[in-house]
Amino acid sequence: MNEEYKGQKWLLHQCCGPCSMWPLYMLRHAGVDVTLFFFNPNVHPSMEWRRRMENASKAAACYEVPLVAHSLCDPHAWRERAEDDTERCRYCYRVRLELTARAANAFGIKYVSTTLLVSPWQDREMLIEEGVRACEPYSIQFVPCDWRDGYRRGQQMAKERGLYRQKYCGCILSLESSDFYESIACEHDTLAFQETLTRCDQSLLVKDGIFDESLG
Ligand code: SF4
Repeated sequence: MNEEYKGQKWLLHQCCGPCSMWPLYMLRHAGVDVTLFFFNPNVHPSMEWRRRMENASKAAACYEVPLVAHSLCDPHAWRERAEDDTERCRYCYRVRLELTARAANAFGIKYVSTTLLVSPWQDREMLIEEGVRACEPYSIQFVPCDWRDGYRRGQQMAKERGLYRQKYCGCILSLESSDFYESIACEHDTLAFQETLTRCDQSLLVKDGIFDESLG
């Protein structure tokens, strides 16, 4: 990587844990001072968003880099763009990179990139167009890293560390068109069931608490 980035602060938009492994490895070796920014309102359903967020945070911990997360989860905006295949992805890149650039400006960071650039499944050209467009108003540089040759290695690193590796891009339409739709839907049902159980446990604890107080 270019020597000019050594010691520089970067805000790296983070799409998920596994996709961040290789970029973080490369940036660490280049001496870049990275902060991660998790902002992915496209992810559907919300339990999947939480799962990706948790695993994004595990990847950050592997490299001991700070992580800033934005909690917006707004999958319906993507459903509304169902008819608009390519432009839906442009909207998706735009929303995520515009806020990343805005955050970088607020943090006084002059370099921005995204872990989406590691994926051979993403539209690299469109990502770069949207990254440059998002950063321009703030005079921030969008760095168009090409990490795709490390994609498999990054996925392997994620596997070795026990990170969850998703089987669809993120939005509801990518979920519905996934070859693995049925197994993913089953996983989501299980997660939903576990969440319900946790809520039930909590409400029982609350009831127990009230009961104990009334005895006192
Ligand atoms: S397919 Fe992926 S990049 Fe395209 S809109 Fe859906 S989540 Fe975003």
